[in-house]
Amino acid sequence: MAGEDMSLVWAAAGVAVVASGAAGLVARGMFSPRSGVFGPVVFRGTTASPPRVALTFDDGPDERTTPRILDVLERYEVPAAFFVIGRNVERHPELVAQMHRAGHLVGNHSYHHARLGTFRRLRYWRQELARTDDVIAPIVGAKPRLFRPPMGFRNRHIARVVREGRYVATTWTVRALDSLNTSAARILERLDLRSEAGSILALHDGQEPGRVRDLRATIEALPQLIERLRDRGLEPVRLDGLIGEQPYRENASVPEPSGG
Ligand SMILES: [Zn+2]
Repeated sequence: MAGEDMSLVWAAAGVAVVASGAAGLVARGMFSPRSGVFGPVVFRGTTASPPRVALTFDDGPDERTTPRILDVLERYEVPAAFFVIGRNVERHPELVAQMHRAGHLVGNHSYHHARLGTFRRLRYWRQELARTDDVIAPIVGAKPRLFRPPMGFRNRHIARVVREGRYVATTWTVRALDSLNTSAARILERLDLRSEAGSILALHDGQEPGRVRDLRATIEALPQLIERLRDRGLEPVRLDGLIGEQPYRENASVPEPSGG
């Protein structure tokens, strides 16, 4: 091959490497819960003493799981954050009212929690957040500020809605992976051992509409998880306290977190 042709080959290879690098960066931004590519995201709270962590539950409310999770939290006097799906809130507003009365935090987790939502655009995401705010507000007395993107995935449209709406995008430090077939022992292993001061723990109390999810392992693991965290000197507190953010737009009638 002539020298000139060869340099063309190298130039093409260079372009390919740069392009795949950029694609990798964008993919990491979309799928990594910690990436700042699509705007700031809170995935950890303060490490200040006393050491604290925050329990968060996604995808509810659900008529079978949420009441049992609420029972355990009440028994241990642990305040938590629930990132609810708008459609599920419409089905079970009474469970969201119960969360709120008990001093738990209610956050926005989109209206549909669509699997392919990451590939949707600005108009779609504006509606997803606004509709969910609108179903939460009458129950809680204020619109939420905290937003957890479904599956932690983000794109530039979500970033814009978060910025314009002055939401706080919040993911997690460690997660239970309790949406998959798992056991209480596995959940404990994932969360307890990997948690440290400032950790945001992600679990589930529900599922996307139309899907069936068995969360018995989560319910079984929760009492032990709280006990083990406390044994290690990690007190579970409400997420807004751990990350130092106002949970709602206006503090109409927000109960103080119970417990720690
Ligand atoms: Zn979710």
